[in-house]
Amino acid sequence: MALIEYRLDGTVNKVENAIKRIQLANLSEEPLYVCYSGGKDSKVIRHLMGMSGVPHELHYNLTTVDIPSVVREIMDDKEVIVEKARYADGTQKTMWNLIVKKHIPPLRQCRYCCAELKEQGGKGRIKVTGVRSAESVRRAKQAGEAKIFGKNGVEIIHNMDNDENRRMIEQCYRTQSTIINPIIDWTDDDIWEFSKVENIKQNPLYVQCGGNKRRLGCLLCPMARLEERLNDIKEYPKIAECYVKAFDKMLENMPDQNKLSWKNGQEVMDWWLYGNNETDTNQITFEDLGVDE
Ligand code: SF4
Repeated sequence: MALIEYRLDGTVNKVENAIKRIQLANLSEEPLYVCYSGGKDSKVIRHLMGMSGVPHELHYNLTTVDIPSVVREIMDDKEVIVEKARYADGTQKTMWNLIVKKHIPPLRQCRYCCAELKEQGGKGRIKVTGVRSAESVRRAKQAGEAKIFGKNGVEIIHNMDNDENRRMIEQCYRTQSTIINPIIDWTDDDIWEFSKVENIKQNPLYVQCGGNKRRLGCLLCPMARLEERLNDIKEYPKIAECYVKAFDKMLENMPDQNKLSWKNGQEVMDWWLYGNNETDTNQITFEDLGVDE
């Protein structure tokens, strides 16, 4: 697999295809809303947006649990619009106050933090993401037609990808947004090849730890593997402490204290990491969530 593939039915240029997809999605009066996270896929999308010439804005939704150096880089970047989710009274939503409010840590089966912190911005806009299907068996298997709603609410169907098993455009009913995934068919190797050729500066954290690439997503995310979460605790002990404190506060604010089996935040943390939070192969993955790495 490479950025240019020679197939029996012709040559496929993934860069040209991605640019074409972005240009075809330019249906709104408003600039395209690019979901930017500072991860490798986001940086590739950002570059492709520039190549496409399509008006766009880069938006970063503050999760409050992202890697501090990644957040700093984004905050220093004048081209990125930083969005903070808020409650109705204007208070900022954070992972810590959401845990207290929801009375449960975020779980694979209950990922309220994605909905409340990551996906609040850009309601009704055409959003562009760096979501890829390469690592998601479920998404790759999932057939679906590509739909987009045009300027006057007219539904237009683009089936630009010959592979019916890959969804380039999705309609999100919850956030009322149209989501465009221009690099849905790119592999990891494509991302690195394009970054090298186009001289895109990727975060050095990807190549630390003896050359192992890592995710740059939220720290201790319940969607991550246990090994990755334990590594987060080792590398970012202060964030782990914040989680334990939030769990302590969550317990203090539980409506029915009698129902509790946890004695303190640390016990919740242990349960959260090792306990009743297992997943099975049918459960949703990072890529299904549209979580950029
Ligand atoms: S990526 Fe993980 S931790 Fe971050 S908001 Fe989504 S579920 Fe929560």
